[in-house]
Amino acid sequence: MLPDWLAAAPVEKVETLGLYIHVPFCRRACHYCDFYFTPRASLMGDYAEALLREIDLYAPLLERFPIETVFLGGGTPSWLPIPLLERIFQRLYRFSSYQPDEVTIEANPEDITTENLRHWQGLGVTRVSVGIQSFSENVLQTLGRYHAPAVARQAVEKLASSFFDWNADLIFAVPGQSVESFLADVRFLIEAGAPHLSLYGLTIEERTVLHKKLQRGRFSPPNEDAYRTAYLEANALLQASGFIWYEISNYARPGRESLHNWRYWLRKPYLGLGPSAHSYLPHLRWANPRNLKAWVTTLGRDSFPVEFHEELTIEKQRMEVWLTQFRTRVGVMVAEVPGLSLAQQAALCQTLEAMAQQNLVEKIGAAFRLTPEGALLSDALILQLETAIERAPALHV
Ligand code: SF4
Repeated sequence: MLPDWLAAAPVEKVETLGLYIHVPFCRRACHYCDFYFTPRASLMGDYAEALLREIDLYAPLLERFPIETVFLGGGTPSWLPIPLLERIFQRLYRFSSYQPDEVTIEANPEDITTENLRHWQGLGVTRVSVGIQSFSENVLQTLGRYHAPAVARQAVEKLASSFFDWNADLIFAVPGQSVESFLADVRFLIEAGAPHLSLYGLTIEERTVLHKKLQRGRFSPPNEDAYRTAYLEANALLQASGFIWYEISNYARPGRESLHNWRYWLRKPYLGLGPSAHSYLPHLRWANPRNLKAWVTTLGRDSFPVEFHEELTIEKQRMEVWLTQFRTRVGVMVAEVPGLSLAQQAALCQTLEAMAQQNLVEKIGAAFRLTPEGALLSDALILQLETAIERAPALHV
């Protein structure tokens, strides 16, 4: 039985579900990463058992709504042995609602073997997202990624010849990485026929090796000019090469955008399973503990391993719009921003028009969306938009 707060959620408007499965195992910590994982492969069996229990607990939701997309993220899902992956997928195939249009697995280059690719396809995986990050040895070393550039290139070749849909992640603005070398990486992937690319500027998160190095003065922060130049030049290069820039960090050839990504950005419902996974139903959010042991133990008692749940206030719903849809090529129409008085709508419109004058946003029909220059300043722009809303007279509740 679903917990009361979830059973009471209004789901009349829910049409389909996305499913995110967090696989919390990595061979070692990449120096920039703050995702939740453990290197203890000996716990993979316990993890899989607990995940099957979690799938069963959510059966009332999983069998009620068609599962449109699946995303195995991590961690390093590609490190999970095939027999464990088989058990997970077998459990999902029991649901008649399990007929997904897209099933993505995140992979590290060293796991892209002919054998794995064949097995994943056999399990119904339709898309592989590979963490290349860079083809330069020195950049990979700075990032604490231990695959060799040659392994990354081979992974790309194998993917290109076996999967129709795949993505490669690259990181830019890494100290020691020239803009030209980053653009050469982008060009290599364009020429390899990549249908989708995710380009992330290096940010230094707390709880990472790079953050510790920075604090000890053994690492210099990413250079802002290099960040800006790399971002704008890659954006221009990809758009000139026929890619659609469909979210701040994401590019796809026409028709090859990730359906699962779109779910997040258009705030469609998704269920997150596994430690640290988040879930969303309009307008409810909940999260699992960021701790494998706590998650396994709770599921061992056949209880939902939910550490936190909340109903989103109007202010939080609005912030979600800025942090998701506003960052996409769809943009945001003032009338669809929730909970605004007419005065607030007018103030928001005025602020967006002023941003358009500065080439930070552009108007497409009735929607405003970020330009590449605006994308570089998105956090500051969101703050300005929220300030404009807060200063105008609000709705009386
Ligand atoms: S970047 Fe990926 S592979 Fe590296 S530690 Fe983070 S989740 Fe694991």
